[in-house]
Amino acid sequence: MPAYDSLLASITTDAVSARDVFDPATGELIGRAPLLTSAEADAAVDRAADAQAAWAALGHEERSAVLHRAADAVEAQSEALAQILSREQGKPLNGPNARFEVGACVSWLRVTADTPTPTQVVVDDGSDYAELHYRPIGVVGAITPWNWPMMIAIWQIAPALRMGNTVVAKPSEYTLLSGLALIAVLNEALPPGVLIAAPGDGGIGAGLVANAAVGKIMFTGSTATGKKIIEASAGNVTRLTLELGGNDAGIVLPDVDPEAIAEQLFWGAFINTGQTCAALKRLYVHDDVYEAVCDALVEVASSMPMGIGLDEANVLGPLQNAMQFDVVDRLVEAARRSGARVLLGGDPKRDQPGHFYPATLIADIDPTNDLVVEEQFGPVLPIVRYTDLDEAITLANGLDVGLGASVWSADRDRARDVAARIEAGTVWINSHGGVHPMIPFGGVKQSGYGLEFGVDGLKAASVPQVING
Ligand code: NDP
Repeated sequence: MPAYDSLLASITTDAVSARDVFDPATGELIGRAPLLTSAEADAAVDRAADAQAAWAALGHEERSAVLHRAADAVEAQSEALAQILSREQGKPLNGPNARFEVGACVSWLRVTADTPTPTQVVVDDGSDYAELHYRPIGVVGAITPWNWPMMIAIWQIAPALRMGNTVVAKPSEYTLLSGLALIAVLNEALPPGVLIAAPGDGGIGAGLVANAAVGKIMFTGSTATGKKIIEASAGNVTRLTLELGGNDAGIVLPDVDPEAIAEQLFWGAFINTGQTCAALKRLYVHDDVYEAVCDALVEVASSMPMGIGLDEANVLGPLQNAMQFDVVDRLVEAARRSGARVLLGGDPKRDQPGHFYPATLIADIDPTNDLVVEEQFGPVLPIVRYTDLDEAITLANGLDVGLGASVWSADRDRARDVAARIEAGTVWINSHGGVHPMIPFGGVKQSGYGLEFGVDGLKAASVPQVING
């Protein structure tokens, strides 16, 4: 049996408690994903708790070796994983999409395995001596969204396992197969009970937060759900890392070469067909280069093929679900009604199957329009004209979220000065949205708190303990 078919068969079920999964590009049935009851999810937490002491006792070196073996397993099954991801999430195999996502899972596992332990001597002055250690928390609950269902799961699972925790992972109900397939492959290398999937809807996630045996929740998703988790965590004082929604601004200074930056601007906004937390979602462009940047973006965007993910030619896909299509559609219509200029797209073919929304660029839009101030999470970029840089920075900082941002300029020092004035967890210069397993990532304001990746990510997946004396 081909690898894709056998992996899919191993995670699908004909049980009653299951959900049909449809391809968002064609509407075809892919398979049935099992769903846990609340009692089964609680039992999964108990099993993970039972397995934790032995996993922690292996020590860093052995756990790192196991993570490398898990990376080997993902590598060996990478094409089957990419196909399941592409069919369920919709993202094409090529471009910065499904194969790229599976490749990122491998590199995050390997780099997390090799990151030095965060233990440090904090005082050693002859009279005082203190060390800061980072101990396992116990069971970590990992709750993920549907946009990057494998990569974001690995961002949570890899540091949690590395630090000696066991993990119960809840995939989004929209991308259950992607989560289950990844976990099945990882479990080829992991001891039993160390990583358990808890497929289900938001209720299963809420159950993990409420479970006193779960010591930490690592959550990536919307700000609205993040707030519910904060409230629900109060009962047990559960530790939290929250990577929440964003509405990233980009500021283009007048000294840029529009044609030279257009492709980077495009991918900053349209990576994963715009369904990316730290994507460029509103662009502020100086009047001097406004028309030239718009023209260059139209040229790049109109050359990018969109279609069924398994077709090797495509680099843009459908939206993952009808709910997200409706959000994008509503916001583009609001922009059009306001008199903004539709440069490209905005005309989905409603009589064809799939949640396809074409790459859309909107110019001369009021900075207070809903398409600018709400997170559209789709293949649309509003382009706001500015003349005064201070005003552009005020607009960029004017929302209650702050995940990422970018500054575009031929003068790096000038760009860095602007970056220092922007309220966001990461400010990229002349690019947008790139992440690296050793560079900390996290939001400010209502984009959440806590850092992921690198040494800071390991610290966040553990509890600090001072040994004094
Ligand atoms: P949601 O917040 O709707 O869902 C995220 C996860 O939380 C899902 O697994 C969901 O389950 C689960 N969930 C729902 N309700 C609860 C609850 N009460 N308690 C615990 N868990 C619950 O987000 P989306 O899946 O719609 O993802 C899109 C959002 O995620 C966007 O706003 C985006 O910006 C943000 N995001 C942030 C990132 C970051 O790093 N900051 C990265 C990627 C996305 P189910 O789906 O089954 O209902």
